[in-house]
Amino acid sequence: MPSPGSFRAPGAGPASIGPSASPSFGNRLLDAIPPGDRTGIAGLFTRVELRARQILHHAGTPMADVYFPISGLVSVSGRAGPSRWVEVWLIGSEGMVGIPAVLGTKEAPGLRRVMQIGGAAWRIAPDMLSRAMDISPALRRRLLRYIDVVLLQTAQSSICNATHELRERLSRWLLVAHDALCTDEIALTHQLLARLLGVTRPSVTQCLHVLEEHGAIETRRGRIVISDKQRLEALSCHCHRIIRSHAQAALQPGDGTGPS
Ligand SMILES: [Zn+2]
Repeated sequence: MPSPGSFRAPGAGPASIGPSASPSFGNRLLDAIPPGDRTGIAGLFTRVELRARQILHHAGTPMADVYFPISGLVSVSGRAGPSRWVEVWLIGSEGMVGIPAVLGTKEAPGLRRVMQIGGAAWRIAPDMLSRAMDISPALRRRLLRYIDVVLLQTAQSSICNATHELRERLSRWLLVAHDALCTDEIALTHQLLARLLGVTRPSVTQCLHVLEEHGAIETRRGRIVISDKQRLEALSCHCHRIIRSHAQAALQPGDGTGPS
C-alpha cells in the first residue's frame, strides 16, 4: 500500500484528481508515459517536500534516492576547486534527478545535486526505479531520451560558456530556469546566481541591471521576475532555443522514440 503522501490512484486521493481522470504526477516526464503505465507504477513513488538548499546527492557517495520534481528547481554542479561548485545543468518538473540510476548504477561521480528553489517531488529508490522501468518500457525509453536531452543541454552550455558573453549566458540561464519552473518568478539571489554561473556577484548584478533596463526582467529582493520573455530571448544567444526545442521534442506524447 502506498504510504501517506505517496501517489494516489484516481478516486482514492486528493480532489485534484477526478474519478475518471488518468493519474497525473505533475512531473512532465512521468506524465508523458501512457495512462495505464502511470497507474501500474504509481505505488512505487512517494511524494516528498524538498526545502531550498537541501542536498539531494553528495558527490562521490552512493545514490540513495531518485527524484522526479513536481515544483522547485534542482541544480547539478561540478567541482571547480576545493570548495567551489559551478552549475552544469538544471532540473525542474520536465526532468528527473538521478540519471546514474537509469543507467543501472548507484554510484554518483563528482557531481552534486542541490535543491536551489524549494518544492515537491516524487521520490523512488534506484532498485524500485529499475522495477518501474521493467513494468513500463515506455518509461525506460522516455528516461533514455531525457538523458539525451541532458547531454545536449550540457554540451550547449559548454559552448555558451566558451563563446558567449555573460549577459547572453545569464539570459540563457534565466530562460532555462523559466522553462524548468513554468513560472515567471525565479526565487534566486544575485549571490547564488553568481555562484551557479561561476562569476562574481557584481558582474551578475551589472548584467541583471542591463536586462532590467531593457524591460526584460524585474529584480526584487531575493527574486527575479521575467516580465517580457520575448525581450529576454532577444537579448540572449541562440543556445536557449536549441536546448528548449530538444527538450520539448523529448516530452511530446508518444513512446518517446520519435525523431527529435
Ligand atoms: Zn550561448
